Amino acid sequence: MAKVAAGAIVAAEVVAGLADSSDDLLRPPGAGDEKDFLSKCIKCGRCIEACPYQALYAQTGAFGAGIGAPTLNVRNQACRMCEDMPCIPVCPTGALEKLETRNDIRMGLAVIDREHCIAIKGMRCEVCYRACPLIDRAITLDKRVRDNDYIHTVFEPIIDVDACTGCGLCVERCVVTDPCVPIKIVRDREDAIRQIEEEQAKEISSAYGASEGKWAPAGSY
Ligand code: SF4
Ligand code: SF4
Ligand code: SF4
Repeated sequence: MAKVAAGAIVAAEVVAGLADSSDDLLRPPGAGDEKDFLSKCIKCGRCIEACPYQALYAQTGAFGAGIGAPTLNVRNQACRMCEDMPCIPVCPTGALEKLETRNDIRMGLAVIDREHCIAIKGMRCEVCYRACPLIDRAITLDKRVRDNDYIHTVFEPIIDVDACTGCGLCVERCVVTDPCVPIKIVRDREDAIRQIEEEQAKEISSAYGASEGKWAPAGSY
């Protein structure tokens, strides 16, 4: 029975994307890099208790040093970027360092999978753009005419790597789940910038038929 329960926990973590690597886990606002953070965090849980949105929870799983440290699954509950960031001052060890403003939060960077984002296929979505607390700063919309269609417009969300805090509200609200959620937070900002550049280099057509006929033809919505 215990084995079944343990297996269920591991399976849930794989689904939640928590079992890739300790470095992939998101940490609360004010945390430094993973090594620095784990060297200071004593897993007291005070930040978890202080978060009014229950965005933080104690990490479980296979990563010894990180077990019990605060983490987030932003698809379930993103960081709301509280003005006063109450999770930070309660930290007794400085593992969460004081930030001047909530705009200084750097939990990671949002990366959009352009092959699966429906806005790039020509559907009007904008959900991540509207959800972003830094609308028109961390996400802007690149407006252009749809391929082979001079009536309809594509509104592509573009992440500003200097402004995005990695709060994850865009991920929490994204309307697409199948075959995957097309937006994620990558904690390592250099890796995230590389992934964003790779995505932008892809040529993805917004013309009807370019996505196996999954989307409605121009003029039907
Ligand atoms: S800034 Fe607010 S929502 Fe985000 S982790 Fe801290 S307390 Fe929770
Ligand atoms: S993670 Fe998403 S919602 Fe948060 S600041 Fe960045 S683009 Fe905006
Ligand atoms: S909410 Fe999701 S599908 Fe919609 S524009 Fe943003 S990333 Fe694309």
